[in-house]
Amino acid sequence: MAASLPALPKGATIGILGGGQLGRMLAQAAEKLGLRCHVYSPEADSCAFEVVQAKTCAPYEDKAALARFADAVDRITYEFENVPAASAEFLAARKPVLPGPKVLANTQDRLVEKNFIAGLGIATAPYAPVTSSAELKAALARIGTPAVLKTLRLGYDGKGQAAIEKPEQAEAAWQELKRQPSILEQFIAFEREISVVAARGADGAFVGYELIENEHKNHILYRSTVPANISPTLAAEAVSIARRIAEALDYVGVLAVEMFEAQGRLLVNEIAPRVHNSGHWTLDGASISQFEQHIRAVAGWPLLQPKRLGRAEMINLIGDDVHDPARIASGTGWRVHLYGKGEARPGRKMGHVTRVMPD
Ligand code: AMP
Repeated sequence: MAASLPALPKGATIGILGGGQLGRMLAQAAEKLGLRCHVYSPEADSCAFEVVQAKTCAPYEDKAALARFADAVDRITYEFENVPAASAEFLAARKPVLPGPKVLANTQDRLVEKNFIAGLGIATAPYAPVTSSAELKAALARIGTPAVLKTLRLGYDGKGQAAIEKPEQAEAAWQELKRQPSILEQFIAFEREISVVAARGADGAFVGYELIENEHKNHILYRSTVPANISPTLAAEAVSIARRIAEALDYVGVLAVEMFEAQGRLLVNEIAPRVHNSGHWTLDGASISQFEQHIRAVAGWPLLQPKRLGRAEMINLIGDDVHDPARIASGTGWRVHLYGKGEARPGRKMGHVTRVMPD
C-alpha cells in the first residue's frame, strides 16, 4: 500500500491517535505545512486537544467514535503505540493508518518485538519469556544476575519493570509485576545509551538524524545530546540497524530505535514506532524537526534531508521542574518548550529545554 500512497493536498486532515505532547508537537508541525489535524484521545485534558481544529474524546474501543473519526480524516497516524490492535485494524479498513498495523503487532509486546529484532540477525540483551515463577527461576539460571524483569505489554518510562540483583529476589519481582506474562533480560552494564531517530517515506526513502546519546534518571529520559560520543563505525552500524528494522516493517513515518553500547557492541533495547523524546532537539537543532518529517512521510510528501545546526542538548522538564526551568537551563541560549499540561505530577513530562552550540 505504501508505494501507492497518494500525496495529501494542502488543507487535508491527518488524524492522530493519542493526545499527549507528541501529538501536540505533531499537530503544530502539520499546521506549519498547511495541514489540519484531528486528535483522538480518551483523556479530556489531553494537551494536544488545545492546538488542533478537531478533537474526539472517546475510549479507543468505541467503534462508533472510531468510525466517525475515520470519516472525518484523510489519513491516520499515532503518537501512542499502545492503541488496541483491534482499533487500529478497524481504522485501517476505513483510512490508511501509518505506520501500518504490522508495526503495532511487532512493537506492542516486548517478546514479539525482541523475537522480531533477533530474527533480523540484530543483537539484543539475552532474554527469555516468563509466564510462571518456575519459568522465571529457570530463566535466571540461564541468563544470570543482575537481570531485569519486564511485563510484555504497556511498559514505558520504567513502569512494569523489576530489577533482580540476586536469585533470591526472583519471587518478589514476580509478585511485584503481579505475575503478568513477562520477559527476563540480562542487565547490561552499558557504556552509553543511544538512539537513532529516522524517517522512512512512502516511496521507501530513508533519512536518519545523527546518533543521539541519552541519559536516564529513574528510568525516564533526562538528557539527550547530539552527536553521540561514539565511533564513526558504530554510528554507521546503528543507522544501518534502524534502516533494516524500518525496511522489514515496511515502515512509513518516524521511528526511534533505542540501543545500548556495551563492550564495543550495539544491542537493541526497544523500537518506538513514533516520534520520540530523544528527537525533541530536532525542533531547534536541525533544519527539519522529527515532527515535520513524520507529517511529511504520513502525508506521502518527499522527506527532506536534515542538516544539524550545531551540537545540541535537550533536557526534559519533569514534574516540578516546569515551575523553574531556569534552574535547569542555566546559562545562555536555552529555548523552553512547555506542553500546557495541568498538574505537575512527579515523573510527568511537562516540557523540555534545548540549546544548540557551535560544533
Ligand atoms: P525500557 O522500558 O526497556 O526502554 O527501559 C527503560 C530504561 O531502563 C532503559 O533506557 C535503560 O536505562 C534501562 N534498561 C532497560 N533494560 C535494560 C537492560 N536489559 N540492561 C540495562 N538497563 C536496562
